[in-house]
Amino acid sequence: MDFVSIITQKRDGKPLTKGQISWMIDKYTKGSIPDYQMSAFLMAVYFNGMTKEEVMLLTRAMINSGKTVDLSGLGTPLVDKHSTGGVGDKISLILAPLVAGAGVSVPMMSGRGLGHTGGTLDKLEAIPGLRTNLTIDKFRDEIKKIGFAMTGQTGQLVPADKKMYALRDVTATVPSIPLICASIISKKKAEGAKGLVLDVKMGSGAFLKSDDKTRKLAEALVRLGDMSGMHTIALLTEMNEPLGFTVGNWLETKESILALKGQGPDDVMEVTTALGGLMLVLGKKAKSIEQGKEQILKVLESGKGFELFREMVIIQGGDVSFVDDPESYALPKYARVITAGRKGFISAEDALKIGIAAGHLGAGRIKVTDRIDPGAGIVLHKKIGDQVEEGGKLATLYTSNKILLNEAEAILADAWKIEDKIIEKKSKVIDLIDIEGKISL
Ligand code: URA
Repeated sequence: MDFVSIITQKRDGKPLTKGQISWMIDKYTKGSIPDYQMSAFLMAVYFNGMTKEEVMLLTRAMINSGKTVDLSGLGTPLVDKHSTGGVGDKISLILAPLVAGAGVSVPMMSGRGLGHTGGTLDKLEAIPGLRTNLTIDKFRDEIKKIGFAMTGQTGQLVPADKKMYALRDVTATVPSIPLICASIISKKKAEGAKGLVLDVKMGSGAFLKSDDKTRKLAEALVRLGDMSGMHTIALLTEMNEPLGFTVGNWLETKESILALKGQGPDDVMEVTTALGGLMLVLGKKAKSIEQGKEQILKVLESGKGFELFREMVIIQGGDVSFVDDPESYALPKYARVITAGRKGFISAEDALKIGIAAGHLGAGRIKVTDRIDPGAGIVLHKKIGDQVEEGGKLATLYTSNKILLNEAEAILADAWKIEDKIIEKKSKVIDLIDIEGKISL
């Protein structure tokens, strides 16, 4: 087999065979297919797509690129959540300890920042010392001890996705339904989840710009998850403005710590409790989402969610003093405030532009080898629907590299729209997709 003919076949829109797909993933994982050829292949998939059969084969080949975790001996329900990628999306950090505190174990394998969106691993690693490359044994032990663990793909688990994910990030091949589906479902299946709740983002900050395509993505993910043996449900949530008030790794981690102390922004808590409620339904700890939400709120109010997050940080080697005292974290040297050009009500706060600007400030990567500036990012002072005065603060930008401030400010030029009329704040939860039809909003 040779890879040029596989790229040619995909470029010409012809489906690949099982043998071709497993050969390609095996060779790429072992390093015998170079990144430049895989980039060409990913771009061919971006333009020509894949059949359902090919996506299933790709997912299986990616799972087989590493080991899988068997958590069945734990005796607890095992349900995970994954987002298709958003701006300011720090939900996993808050959700996993809350769900674990309600008796459903969460084996969470997350990704890094992708395109204009942030990644859970980068956010966690903003806590000095925190390791996200757990061995399978450590992953299992931690779940047994505290009910959840947060890791990334290592050489052991889905190494193919680790490499392809990083490559897609810098080759503009993220917004592809088959590639997103295989990436997410391979990780979730390999980590040992039995149920899966997906947060599929819809709006300007989502990877797929049309609502129609986003629904197709949600349906494809749910179908592939179900076919892979995990009861999978997707929640469609709105991503026109960032979630919460922060975008950037430490800034979001800090916001999550505060949320676990009961000070979470309304939109963040709405999405967290809806996803958590669903996870408890899948884990058979609640009969309805509403009942599940109540249980999540109880765990939050008791402080157990915060305690479990703290324990996770200690177990994974992080400096817990920053969890206990988030204000002690040194923010980057340079800051700039963006102000409103007029008074009125905020009608748009463009998640895509804010995500790109935060990336430029150092919160994301432009090349695979780029280092993250953990403190870099954006603090929003207003949300859609809020009132602002002329000259009032809209956002503060943070970076360790002063010259990036002008670039980020230019990206943000039209990020906000301000109108005279009152703008209603809307719910972030749009819809739920469950192919089995058993669960509804
Ligand atoms: N999250 C993932 O893990 N993979 C993708 O491709 C997109 C979002």
